[in-house]
Formats: sequence, structure tokens, C-alpha cells
Amino acid sequence: MEKCILIRYGEIFLKSGNRPFFEGLLKKNIRQALKGIKFSLSVSQARYFIESYNEADENAVIESLKRIFGIHSLSVCYKVDTDIEKIGLLLSEVFQKTGKFRISVNRADKRIKQSSMEIAKYLGHVLLESGSGRLSVDLHDFDYEINADIRENGYTYLFFDKISGAGGLPVGCSGKGLLLLSGGIDSPVAGYMIAKRGMSVSALHFYSIPFTSPQAKEKVGELAEILKRYTSGMTVYFVKFTKIQEAIHQKCPNEYLITIMRRFMMRIAEKISDKYGFDAVITGESLGQVASQTVESLTSTADATSKLILRPLIGFDKNEIIDIAKTIDTYTTSIQPYEDCCTVFLPKNPSIRPKPAIVTEAEKALDIDVLVDEALSDMEIVNL
Ligand code: ATP
Ligand code: MG
Repeated sequence: MEKCILIRYGEIFLKSGNRPFFEGLLKKNIRQALKGIKFSLSVSQARYFIESYNEADENAVIESLKRIFGIHSLSVCYKVDTDIEKIGLLLSEVFQKTGKFRISVNRADKRIKQSSMEIAKYLGHVLLESGSGRLSVDLHDFDYEINADIRENGYTYLFFDKISGAGGLPVGCSGKGLLLLSGGIDSPVAGYMIAKRGMSVSALHFYSIPFTSPQAKEKVGELAEILKRYTSGMTVYFVKFTKIQEAIHQKCPNEYLITIMRRFMMRIAEKISDKYGFDAVITGESLGQVASQTVESLTSTADATSKLILRPLIGFDKNEIIDIAKTIDTYTTSIQPYEDCCTVFLPKNPSIRPKPAIVTEAEKALDIDVLVDEALSDMEIVNL
């Protein structure tokens, strides 16, 4: 008996007129996610089939597929030649449950003369006969829905469950983003959310050794590894921020420290984006969450760059963000108690309404270009 995994990818791509592009991307992302596992991949009429894998790998394959954006749902199937007797035989062999069932037939192969209803009736009959009293039919109040998908390729796929996929769009169809990744809860979730809309995501982390520990940096590496499961590849840019922070601390009014720091982050993100072709900068900011995320702070931060800034969490409550962090498995890593560079020299009373004009004036004490270029000169690039 041959098993396979049927992947459905939703209607949205079919309408866009860009079907080969989306299909190609999704296929590439599936191959990337299943690297190291033996399988074959085929496409037929808006469905993919993962075949010829080892049974022992089935759960791992499903878990990987569940994280791929653009997949609507999956089903583990039994594949059989489209021959109604063979289908009946296979069904009575593999369906060993007790309870009420219904059978739904999808007859995509119009060469088959019987109607879907006739096939369903026949299969139901076979199953009842083989079920020796443990099964009954109930079209409305059923415990199990048995699906027979009769495809144009001459095969029928039997399945009993639909596993929800991650939804969204295939990563790679919406350009490239550079995620400002701290060690906190929010920014990994922001990366996940934007990848869900089809943007490929790489990460930029600022660290402040010796004020921040090597473990804080390692933690960010771990978060990037987890995010990579969703983003189909990931590069992490590590930039040492110590000198910039010291300079701001020494030369600028303390209340604007965080805003000025954020502006440096944006300038550096912009330079990296221009060099490596990122279309947007992504942050985990959420409106009003802290002093540096008020409307005025966000305006002053954005004012330092002409790059598009995407803030997918802008309207989320912390609890909602935490729920997603738990679902995507970044939460337990995020809450490890290592300090972030943003907590170094933290002022007691940061300005919550930093006007761009005032901040720009305050920054004049700094040699901005030199500081930015210096920080970039010993940037570390890690390809995960
Ligand atoms: P978390 O730390 O993930 O997001 P937070 O609530 O602690 O969020 P802030 O510290 O105010 O928020 O940071 C806001 C955003 O700035 C972060 O979501 C992240 O995108 C970016 N950021 C903060 N610190 C760093 C850092 N050390 N390296 C890169 N980006 C950072
Ligand atoms: Mg943070």
C-alpha cells in the first residue's frame, strides 16, 4: 500500500494570474524545508504530492510542511489506481475505526462514468460489509469523514483528516526584508508575521559587548534558527553597537538616548539593505508599548531613514504577541533573561514625545557617518 501527503495551496494563487511563479516558489520552499529527507514531489491540478518517503519520516515531514507559508492544508493519503474495486478493498483494509462515518467523493477525473454519489454509495457498502457491525453511516452527525479524491492522473487518494497549514503566501513572493531582531519576545514574532505575507526575512542584531553578554548574542542566534523554519533560509548580520551607545551617552541629552539609538539602528539597517538588496526594514514595534513606541518616537525613528519600515505588530497587544510567540516556539528562548543593548545606559525618564527637529539638533554633537561606517566595518555575517 502506498502512502503520500497531499498538499493544498488555496485558491489565491490561481486568481492572481501568476500561478507558475507561486507554484515554483512553493515547490522550492518545500524542497528547502525537507532537505535531508528522502522524498519525491509531484504537482497535479493545484495540488502537490509528497511521495516515496520513509514511513519513519512521516511526522517530521508533516511538521515541516505545517510551517511553510502558502500551504492551506495537508492530508496523509493512501494512493490507489482509480479502479472502484481496488479503492473499496484498500478502504476496508486501512479504515479500522469504530463509529459513524460518511464518504465524500471528489471526481476530478471526468473519464469515470459513475457519479460521485454512486461511488460514495458503493464504497460505503463495502466498508459496512467489512466493518462487521462496528461502523454505521450518518451523513450529518458523523465521527469520521472519509474522502476519496479521484484525480486526473489515474490515481485516487483516500484520506481521513485535513491538517491545517500555515496559510499566507509563499516566502519569496513579496520581496526581501531585514528584521531588526532583539532578544525579546516581539521581534521574532514580527519576522514570522511578515514572512507569512511572503517576504523573505534576514535579521540584523545590535549587541554591546562588554555591556551585553556573549549569551545574549547566542540567544539571538537561537531565535534566528527557530525563525528560519518559517523563512526558508536566513542570514544574520551582527553589528557591534558599543561605541555608538557610548558616544550618545557621553554627548547627547539622556532623555533622547533611546530615540537617537533607534535612529542609528535605522541608518545602519538602511546601509545594509542598500548593499544586500533588502526592500524593507521590519521591527517588532507596537504602538504605545513603551516610551520608544509612541507616535512621536516612531516618527523620529523613521525620520532617520528613507527605507520602508514594516511594523506588523503595530496594533497587537502584548498578550496577543505572546500567544503567537508560544505557537511559533520562540517564547521560551525569548524569555531567557539576558540583557539587550537597549537596556544599556537606559535613562530614568526617556522622552515620550521626541520631536524629530529636537532629536536632529541633539545628534549634531556626534560624527554620525564615522560612527555608522565604523560599526559596519566589523560586521559579522552568519548564513544559517
Ligand atoms: P523586542 O525586544 O523583541 O521586541 P521590545 O518590546 O523589547 O521588543 P524595544 O526594545 O523597544 O521593544 O525594541 C523595539 C524594536 O526595536 C524591536 O522589536 C526590534 O525590532 C528593535 N530592536 C531592539 N533592540 C534591538 C537590537 N539589539 N538589535 C536589533 N533590533 C533591536
Ligand atoms: Mg527589546
